[in-house]
Amino acid sequence: MNMAVVNALLLIVEALVYFGVMATLFRARHRYGIGLFMCALGVMHFLETYLAAVFYIPLPFGVISPGSTVLFSGKLIMLLLLYIREDASTVRQPIYGLFVGNLLIVSLVVILRQHEMLSPGGRAADLAFLDEMGLLMIWGTTLLLIDGIAIILLYERLGQLLRSWTFLRIFLSAGLVLAFDQVGFFMALHYLYDAPVEVFIGGLVAKIGAAFFFSALVTLYLKWFEWRPERGNVRLADVFDTLTYRERYEALLKRSAIDPLTGLLNREQFERIGPEAADAANRTGAPLSLLIIDADRFKSINDRFGHPAGDQALAIIGAELAANIRQGDLAFRYGGEEFLVLCKDTKHAAASLLAERLRLAVKTRSAQGAAGMVTISAGVATLPEHARTLDELIATADRRLFAAKDRGRDQVVCDDDPQMPGTNQQSARA
Ligand code: GH3
Ligand code: MG
Ligand code: MG
Repeated sequence: MNMAVVNALLLIVEALVYFGVMATLFRARHRYGIGLFMCALGVMHFLETYLAAVFYIPLPFGVISPGSTVLFSGKLIMLLLLYIREDASTVRQPIYGLFVGNLLIVSLVVILRQHEMLSPGGRAADLAFLDEMGLLMIWGTTLLLIDGIAIILLYERLGQLLRSWTFLRIFLSAGLVLAFDQVGFFMALHYLYDAPVEVFIGGLVAKIGAAFFFSALVTLYLKWFEWRPERGNVRLADVFDTLTYRERYEALLKRSAIDPLTGLLNREQFERIGPEAADAANRTGAPLSLLIIDADRFKSINDRFGHPAGDQALAIIGAELAANIRQGDLAFRYGGEEFLVLCKDTKHAAASLLAERLRLAVKTRSAQGAAGMVTISAGVATLPEHARTLDELIATADRRLFAAKDRGRDQVVCDDDPQMPGTNQQSARA
C-alpha cells in the first residue's frame, strides 16, 4: 500500500482510539467522577506537544503532525463536549488548568536547564528540544486559552442560527477555531523556524478534516448516548463571564453598591441614602425631589423578545438615566424595571423638567431601535411641598406614576389631578 494511504488510515485509527477512550471516560463521569476525564485530557497534552515538535508524516495533501491533528483537535472537541453536556463553570477548569500547567512546565524547564547534568550511557538530555518546546509552548498555551473560550462562545452564538443542526454547529465552531489556531500557530513556526507554507496548508487541511471527523463522532455520541433537549436561552455574555471567571466580579458588585445590570445604585443604597436625604431636607428646609420611573408594558417586551432582550432594554434605560441626570442627582434601580432618581436641593419644577428629559431620552433611544423599544412613565413629588416624610414622598410619587400609566403611559405626572381616573387606583399596573 501507498505510504500516504497507510498514514491516513493510521491517523483515523489514532483518532478513533483517542475519541473512544475519552468519550468512555466522559460517559462514566457520573459513576467515577469527572476527574478521570480531565486528567486523561491533561496527560495527553504532553504527547501532543512532543509530537507537534518532532513527529511529522506525509499525507496526500501535505505534511502533518498527528500531535496537532489528532490530539490538539481532539482536545478542543472534548472541551466542547464537556461544555455541551456540563456547563461553562465546569469546562473552564480544564481550560485554565491546561494553561497554568503549561506555564508551569515552561518555568520548570527554565530552572532544570541550570542543572549540571550527567549523561548515563552517553545519552544526553535533548536541551534544544526543551528550549524549542518552551518558546512554542508559551505561544501555543496562550492560543489554547483563546481557542477554548472561542469554541464555546462560537458554539453558543451559532446556536441562534443552527439550533437543530447539531453536526453543522459543532463542525463550524471547531473548524473555525482550528483554522484560527493554525494561522496563529503557523505564524510562530514560521518566524521561529522558517516553517514553509506547505506546513500551513497541510496542517490546515488536517485540522479541518479532524474537525469534521470529530464533530461527526461527537454528534453521534450525543445522539446515541446522551441525548437531551437543548438548554434554553443562554446569554452569551453570561457564558463569557463564567468562562473568564468574571461572574465572581459580578458577584462582588452585587454585594456592593452597584446594580450589575444597569450600573445604577441598588435598592440597598436608596434605603441608606433616602432617609438621610429626607432628614437633611427637613432640617435645612431645602427641597428634595423624587422621581419614580417604571418601564412601560415591560412584561410584553419579555414575552415578545425574551428575557435577555428585556435585560438589555433595562441596561439601556439605566444608561440613559445615568447620562441625563444632573450632577448631584442619584439614580437607583429600585426593583425589576423600576427606577428612582433622588434630587437634592431641587424644586418641583426642576425635577419635573428632569423627568421629562429622562422620558424623552429613553424614547429617543427606543425610536432608534434600541432593544425592546421601551418607553418609561414617571411620577414626581417634592418634599416638603407634597410630603413630610420619605415614605410619604415615595407614596405620592408612586400615586402619580400610577396616574401616568392610567393616562396611557410614556408620560410624566407631577401633580395629583382629582379629575383623572386612577389617581388612587392600582388598576393601571395590573
Ligand atoms: P406597566 O406599563 O403597567 O408597568 O406594564 P408592565 O408590563 O411593565 O407591568 P409591571 O411593571 O407590573 O411588570 C414588570 C415586569 O417586568 C414583570 C417582569 O416580567 C419584568 N421584569 C422585572 N424585572 C426584570 C428584569 O430584571 N429583567 C427582565 N428582563 N424583566 C424584568
Ligand atoms: Mg413595574
Ligand atoms: Mg412596568
